[in-house]
Amino acid sequence: MNLEEILLKAYEGKRITEDEALQLLKVESFYDVLKIGIVADKIREKKVGNVVTYVKNRNINYTNICINRCKFCAFRREEKDVDAYVLSIEEILKKVEEAVKCGAKEICIQGGINRKLEFDYYEKMLKEIKKRYNIHIHAFSPMEIYHLSKISGFKIYETLKYLKEIGLDSMPGTAAEILDDEIRKRICPEKIDTKTWIEIIKTAHKLGIKTTATILYGHVESYEHVIRHLSILRKIQDETKGFTEFIPLAFVHKKTELYRKFKSQPGSSSIYDIKLYSVSRIFLDNFRNIQASWVKLGRKMAQLMLNFGANDLGGLLIEENISREAGAVYEFPSEQEIRLLISQIGRIPKERDTLYNLV
Ligand code: SF4
Repeated sequence: MNLEEILLKAYEGKRITEDEALQLLKVESFYDVLKIGIVADKIREKKVGNVVTYVKNRNINYTNICINRCKFCAFRREEKDVDAYVLSIEEILKKVEEAVKCGAKEICIQGGINRKLEFDYYEKMLKEIKKRYNIHIHAFSPMEIYHLSKISGFKIYETLKYLKEIGLDSMPGTAAEILDDEIRKRICPEKIDTKTWIEIIKTAHKLGIKTTATILYGHVESYEHVIRHLSILRKIQDETKGFTEFIPLAFVHKKTELYRKFKSQPGSSSIYDIKLYSVSRIFLDNFRNIQASWVKLGRKMAQLMLNFGANDLGGLLIEENISREAGAVYEFPSEQEIRLLISQIGRIPKERDTLYNLV
């Protein structure tokens, strides 16, 4: 099929194949990129209208000590490092309290894989937050869940079931990076493999724990890897309907080993961003929401991606450490600034909660 035939097929609501999606991603002419973007924008409009959502949330990274050595990560520290830390439960609760006072609807909790922390720590964290505050807990990547199952001695299913019982409301679909074991061996060799990531996500969905879905792009992956990754997500969503949204995460390269030592790409180009967002909107026909991450893209590029398939600007993030450590430079936007970014392009800003209920 030629480009126009693929785009017409997508516009008519028919599912495009992996090969067709690859053909779109490989397009080089800027005019062709724009054609893809226009179709993605039309599909977004048909699916979710002109509302652009955002959520008031706070990130809490409970420790930066991590036994893994992902090469794209500038956040991890060794225990001996002067700026290594572990937050006490009291410190975590204080951060939750501050967030609640600022009107946050979600606490996003993620951290390094720290051998010194026992299962009790995580248990107490969830129980104490829930005891004191009425707030949605969005926590623990599949990598952390795998680690928790190891230290608790429970199977994945039992671990997730228990965490849900004591307060885990939803999970970030992070640690996905690129769902291809060859790439994973190169960029995050100690991380769970593709099969385990899929198993944990599907188990969470079966237990009614919704998750996001992510991709980390702009480093060593090829377009083929991207499409295979998207295809895995589409299949899972067909089966479970458990993903709330898809969040493309553009690689922030500056302070990472992957760029400095292993000479990866220095992040994505603006054209790659546009193609990735547009093709994701077209290919992921069973996803309602696509988030433009202002933390990774910067505010103006995130605003631009709202014209290429995205319908959400993510969190206000009262605290964010991971991208900042990797060299992202930004100030936290106020709610007014986020609303302005949306209304400047003729769209309607609305606050949402984690599960996309409008507030
Ligand atoms: S990405 Fe996560 S698992 Fe990997 S090194 Fe960084 S903190 Fe550890």
